[in-house]
Amino acid sequence: MRPIFQPRLVNGPFADPALFVDLLFERRALLFDLGDIAALSPRKILRTSHVFVTHTHMDHFVGFDRLLRICLGRARPLTLFGPVGFIEHVGHRLASYTWNLVENYSIDLVVTACEVSADGSHASRATFNSRERFQRRDQDPAELHDGLLLDEPALQVRCAVLDHGVPCLGFALQEAMHVNVWPNRLAELGLVPGAWLRDAKRAIIANAPDDTPLTARWRDGDESRERLLSLGTLRQSAVQCVPGQKIAYVSDVAYHTDNLQRITRLVAGADLLFIEATFRGCDVDEAQRKHHLTARQAGSIARDSAARVIVPFHFSPRYMDCEGALVSEARAAFLGVTP
Ligand SMILES: [Zn+2]
Repeated sequence: MRPIFQPRLVNGPFADPALFVDLLFERRALLFDLGDIAALSPRKILRTSHVFVTHTHMDHFVGFDRLLRICLGRARPLTLFGPVGFIEHVGHRLASYTWNLVENYSIDLVVTACEVSADGSHASRATFNSRERFQRRDQDPAELHDGLLLDEPALQVRCAVLDHGVPCLGFALQEAMHVNVWPNRLAELGLVPGAWLRDAKRAIIANAPDDTPLTARWRDGDESRERLLSLGTLRQSAVQCVPGQKIAYVSDVAYHTDNLQRITRLVAGADLLFIEATFRGCDVDEAQRKHHLTARQAGSIARDSAARVIVPFHFSPRYMDCEGALVSEARAAFLGVTP
């Protein structure tokens, strides 16, 4: 089954970080980090519903203005997540413009900023409405369980609070389990597909017990009738469950035990890991001073997290003429071989 996530780095590995994840069938997209997004078409930007910002160093947040510029006048709300201090940063960005004419827009754009606390236990929230000239309105904070920021039937986004000299978030995007139904086995049971099957799939994803009753469609000669069926019967005879895709995004983190433990837990078993590899291994002292990873460290984190594929990015421009060295350092550490 085709995964619903279509991830793509907006820029090359030497330019600003931003990962655009299109959601198949949803006409919607998620953004991880908000560096320069000039390369994203307005059509794609308009699809963005949620933005997950690791931290507000300029190269990760400068795209906020373009996002806002294009989304003004859009009906769909925009929700952004970030680390400690994030609501204030969003508020200041919004306050830096003159909004006296914005109430003339027929549609109100609601921007919600969510800020994950330093211990990851809760998220403070504030909304900014264009109709109120983006005045800040504080909302009730939300409790966070295991870093869960977004919980939808088709996907979940979790975060881990990491250290980059300042609090910085790492993210994992998890697709819900795929429930595949074998048409021939369904026919053997005398059952006919229909809306009831969609409800059954939902119940399976929600891990409902085997004795959950289903009102299924059943073929009776040329007619189809309703028949009561237990979820367990369907589960055991006509269904195969396949884990959904997992994408992890880690950028701008210091290499130390505490970060490593949190990252490997967040990333564990990811199909695809986007991870910063800012410095070469020979510049490890500078990487440490600047709370960044080397390519080798990025590769070993991917290995320890049992990621399936690593995409190193966010390279320092100083290595512009030796990009291959960064990539092979990361790959070698990931594969556990000497470069
Ligand atoms: Zn940074």
